[in-house]
Amino acid sequence: MTTAAAGSARTYQVRTYGCQMNVHDSERISGLLEEAGYVRAPQADDTPDVVVFNTCAVRENADNRLYGNLGHLRPVKDSHPGMQIAVGGCLAQKDRGDIVRRAPWVDVVFGTHNIGALPVLLERARHNAAAEVEILESLDVFPSTLPTRRESTYAGWVSISVGCNNTCTFCIVPALRGKEKDRRPGDVLSEVRALVDEGVLEVTLLGQNVNSYGVEFGDRYAFGKLLRACGDIDGLERVRFTSPHPKDFTDDVIAAMAETPNVCHSLHMPLQSGSDDVLRAMRRSYRSDRYLGIIEKVRAAMPDAAITTDIIVGFPGETEADFQRTLDVVREARFSSAFTFQYSKRPGTPAASMDAQLPKQVVQERYERLIASVEEISWAENKRLVGETVEVLVAVGEGRKDGRTGRMSGRARDGRLVHFDAAELAGQIRPGDIVHTTVTYAAPHHLNADGAPLTHRRTRAGDAAEAGRSPRTPGVLLGLPTIGAPAAAPAPTTGCAAH
Ligand code: SF4
Repeated sequence: MTTAAAGSARTYQVRTYGCQMNVHDSERISGLLEEAGYVRAPQADDTPDVVVFNTCAVRENADNRLYGNLGHLRPVKDSHPGMQIAVGGCLAQKDRGDIVRRAPWVDVVFGTHNIGALPVLLERARHNAAAEVEILESLDVFPSTLPTRRESTYAGWVSISVGCNNTCTFCIVPALRGKEKDRRPGDVLSEVRALVDEGVLEVTLLGQNVNSYGVEFGDRYAFGKLLRACGDIDGLERVRFTSPHPKDFTDDVIAAMAETPNVCHSLHMPLQSGSDDVLRAMRRSYRSDRYLGIIEKVRAAMPDAAITTDIIVGFPGETEADFQRTLDVVREARFSSAFTFQYSKRPGTPAASMDAQLPKQVVQERYERLIASVEEISWAENKRLVGETVEVLVAVGEGRKDGRTGRMSGRARDGRLVHFDAAELAGQIRPGDIVHTTVTYAAPHHLNADGAPLTHRRTRAGDAAEAGRSPRTPGVLLGLPTIGAPAAAPAPTTGCAAH
C-alpha cells in the first residue's frame, strides 16, 4: 500500500493504549478525521497517510513503548513521503515538546484537552512542513461535542464527566486530565437518545468518578437522577457505568440501580486495598468498612448483582498484615472478578517518591496469592449460575475459539462473559442480537451455555452490524478544515487501573 495519491482521500489509523476514556477518545479522533475527509485505512494497511497514537501514561514503561513504536515507524515514514504521525493522549499531555525532541519525525503532538484541534494541526504541520505541538492546560470544549465514529453497533460510551478532583497518590490522572468537569444531564441524555435512535442497545456512562457527578452544578444526587432518566428512554435495554468511587457513593444510586429496569445489576467499584493504613497512604478517603457497607447494601437491594473491582498489590509500605486485610475484604466481598495490579512507580505521582518501595519478589508473591484467592471466589460465584437462564447481548468476536467450536459470545446483563452454542442458528445470530440461553458450565472468567439458545431476538443493532454500519454522533464543530474526498462507508473494527 502506498500513501494516498493526489486527489484521493487521505487514510488514517488510530492506535489506542490504556483505559475506556482513551478508547472513547479514539472514537472521537476517528469521527473528527472522517468529518475532515480522511478515511479509515484497511486493517492490513501498514502505511496509512496519518497514524495517530492515543497514548496512556498510567502503565509502567508507557514511554518506552511509545518511543519504540515511533522508532519502528520512522523508516516507514521516510519511504512514504507525505505520511504524518500524531501523538495524543495522556503521555502527550505529560511529555509535550519532549516528544518531538526525542522523535523529531513526529508531526503533531496534541493533549487531552484539545482533541478537536487534531485536523487543524495536521493541516498546519503539512503546510508549514514543521512539527506542531499544542497542549492546553484545561478543557476547551467538552469532548462530547466532537463528532464521534462509534466502534460498536450495539454498545456505546457516553461521557458524563472528565477529570477528577481527588488526589490518589498513585494516580497521574488529575495532573493530566485536570479537575472534574461535568456535562449537563440534558446533553448526556440527548447523546444517549441519539445512540438509541441508531440502534444502540447498551450505554456505559463514563467518568473518572461517576459518584461525584453534579459537583460542578451543585447537585450531589445528580448521578442517581441520571440513571433514573435513562430508564425513561425507549429502546435502551442496558445501562452501565464506570467508575464509581466508594467515597462519594450515596444510597440513592443503589436505589436508582435497583428500581430502574434497564440499569444492569453490575458494579465495578475499585477497592485498591483492604488495609485502612494503605488506603490512607494512597489518599483514598474511605475505609474498608465503608467499602464493605456499600457492597452489603447493593446485595440487599440486588441479590443478583455482580461486583467487580481493581486492586493494587505492593503499594509502598504495605506490610504482610496490610495485605492480609486485602485478602479478608476479597473473601468478604465475593467479587465476580477483579483486575489485579502490581504497584509500579508512575513518574510524576507522589507515591513514586515514597520511601519503603517493596522488593519485586515480595510484590510478585503477594500478587500470586491474591490472584489465587480472587479466582477461587470468582469461580465459586460463577458456578452458582449453572442451570440459570441468562440474557446475552451478542458481541463481535469475544473468545478466540468461537470459530472452531461453533460458539458465539456476549455479555450477560450482569457483565459476565458467556460463550454459547450457536450451531443450530448458524448464520442467523448477528452481533447486537439478544439470546436467552441456559448456563451449563462455569470457569473462573466465563460461563458456557452448551445447549441451543432458548430464544433469539433480532435487533436493529444486529441489522446495523450485518449491514456494516456503525453509529455516529455528529457533535457541533465549526470551521474544521476538510481535505480530500468525503468519508466512505465505515469499516467495522479496552482498562485503566487509575481508580
Ligand atoms: S485513582 Fe481515580 S479517583 Fe483517584 S485520583 Fe485517579 S482518577 Fe481520581
